[in-house]
Amino acid sequence: MTTDAAFDIVRRSLANGRLPHAYLLCGEPRGAGLELARRIESLLLCDRRADAPDAAPCGACKSCLSVANGTHPDVLSVEPEKKSRIISMEAMRETFLPWASKMSYLGGWKVGAIFFADRLNESSANAILKTLEEPPPSTLFLLVTDKPEALLPTIVSRCHRLDLSTGRVPPAEPWRTRVGEILAKHTNGSMLRVMATSARLHALFEEIKGLAEEQVSERLKAQREADPNAALVDGDVEKALVSVREKELRGAVYAAIQDWYRDLLVYATLRETGAPADGPGSPEPCFPEFREAIAARAARTPSRLAQRYVEFAGKIQQQIEARFIADTIVFPHWLAWMK
Ligand SMILES: [Zn+2]
Repeated sequence: MTTDAAFDIVRRSLANGRLPHAYLLCGEPRGAGLELARRIESLLLCDRRADAPDAAPCGACKSCLSVANGTHPDVLSVEPEKKSRIISMEAMRETFLPWASKMSYLGGWKVGAIFFADRLNESSANAILKTLEEPPPSTLFLLVTDKPEALLPTIVSRCHRLDLSTGRVPPAEPWRTRVGEILAKHTNGSMLRVMATSARLHALFEEIKGLAEEQVSERLKAQREADPNAALVDGDVEKALVSVREKELRGAVYAAIQDWYRDLLVYATLRETGAPADGPGSPEPCFPEFREAIAARAARTPSRLAQRYVEFAGKIQQQIEARFIADTIVFPHWLAWMK
């Protein structure tokens, strides 16, 4: 499932008062798994939750910001040690177990996240198991791994498992490359830049319109040749076929725009956690050839903002396709935000 779908499951469980004690997040610990863990932490800790328990985390309050920065006092993140690449019993004894037994610092929830949970050794895995068997109150555990099969079955059975889709499917060509070339030049949100980028995306849509007309007319011609007695397709039907095809092709452009900002989110998150972009568990970027352009932008984009951009990018499609607002209005509106 997508991180959105997984997040929604958690959100609904919380709203119904049925939050489990632990989730096993099966996804890349430096990619989708981390993204989901941060969103769940914000959900539980957001300052605005008291006013609107059903709302999504605001992403802007003190708690949300400290979750994004990894400095929230009620979030403990455990990772394998750099040298041994193991989560050792010493680490458990020194940080995790004392933290788990204490009340939360701010009086609300506390969240213990274990990244690369497959790297727990036998004794640390047993320590976690014991904690999961007698969970402390108002505490949520998140075990993040892309190798769930390497975990003790007794641990897995104590967690509510959420499988995130592994591996991203890059958007269709040539649209992926075309969108990449356009967005690599979108280096700031100045009016001039916004108008230039919007014009390029609009030109791409115009090109798609021509292509859709061509493809439909070729397909109809082939049908007529195969069956000369078939009823003629009238102009209105042909127009409808073109518009369906056009919409399909535009879908690849929207997907590419959103994937561009997902790449930005991955780089921004890696930068904040200090992890190398090609380390274990790092997801494959969809735009490897624009790595430098995206990394440069990630250097000045906090991950919480990149997360918002991914959401914004989804709205572009909604507004143009579902609400029939002209792309020449929608693109400038969003691009001014998504620097
Ligand atoms: Zn918040």
